[in-house]
Amino acid sequence: MQKKTLAMVQTDLRRLEAKELPLPSIGHDDALLRIEACGICGSDYEQFEGVLRTPMPVVPGHEPLGTIAEIGDGAAKRWGVDVGDRVAVETMIACHHCSTCRDGRYHLCPTRRIYSYIPLKDSPGLWGGYAQFMYLDPHSILHRVDPSLPAHLAVMFNPLGAGFRWGVEIPETRPGDRVVIMGPGQRGLACLLACLEVGARQVIVTGLEADEKKLGLAREFGAHATIDVENENPGRRIQELTDGHGADVVIDVSSYATEPVAQALDVTAPGGRIVLAGTKGFKPIPDFVSDKVVLKEISIRGAIGVTSSGYANAIRMLESGHTPIERMHTHRFDLRDAELAIQTLAREIEGEESIHSCLIPE
Ligand SMILES: [Zn+2]
Ligand SMILES: [Zn+2]
Repeated sequence: MQKKTLAMVQTDLRRLEAKELPLPSIGHDDALLRIEACGICGSDYEQFEGVLRTPMPVVPGHEPLGTIAEIGDGAAKRWGVDVGDRVAVETMIACHHCSTCRDGRYHLCPTRRIYSYIPLKDSPGLWGGYAQFMYLDPHSILHRVDPSLPAHLAVMFNPLGAGFRWGVEIPETRPGDRVVIMGPGQRGLACLLACLEVGARQVIVTGLEADEKKLGLAREFGAHATIDVENENPGRRIQELTDGHGADVVIDVSSYATEPVAQALDVTAPGGRIVLAGTKGFKPIPDFVSDKVVLKEISIRGAIGVTSSGYANAIRMLESGHTPIERMHTHRFDLRDAELAIQTLAREIEGEESIHSCLIPE
């Protein structure tokens, strides 16, 4: 087996360098993953830019899919996998012993670590998916994935997992529900697919004029209607489309924009549920009228990250082959082109519109 791996290392803000790093020796309880694909997340851009605080140098990439290259006996027994098995890796490394973890909220564990945010200097350094190989900590959670799926599709377990947790699990979306999804990016589209999968009666997706292509894809995926919020009045349109009932579930996955949060209060039906999953750069929300929450008994829940049930539902849906999700895959890049991949996602490359993209090491 080779002794070194190629990894893309973030050495400064907006700077990724290709480096040869030594492969660690694997013990009884850990493993080494050979990366097949690593999804590019919106937060990867924020890490690249420094909007999200990041240690440096660091190997980014927290949406890895790969095969087990080496594994200790203890880890093989605990995870039920062996060399050659294909797995999806969860982003969070939690302690699994504190009261938060024991309550089932391990993604909020106060001592959790997140792949791609652990510095290179913390041995063995290979904590991110922008590499040929990644270290698997003993506290990792893995999911087996059918090896016959193409890697660029299998790696969508991550956004689709968010679709199930944010779109279905948290708001308890049921058959017959009317759903509004604010923001047509990969997470919004994944929420759409998850809501349709559980039998939502009506799903409406909103976006900007520049999101025309994504809104078109939403309609292809089965959205009952889409709304361009810059050229239409979303409040009025949602009332019309739902026959004056409003939405049972509203999911905000738009980033930075504050209007969708205030608007959600108007379009939510009495007793409805709102999920806030898009971050706003810590801006306060103008026009947030809490009386609307009181009078309609609206439930508002935040959503950050994905837990095992969301990933499991996503992988089951991908393996079933009956999801059109592959149509939102727009770009795949070689590992060495990680900078280009991030810039493409951030619309910094003229003429390129990315929805789902990933790195595939050669
Ligand atoms: Zn992510
Ligand atoms: Zn914990």
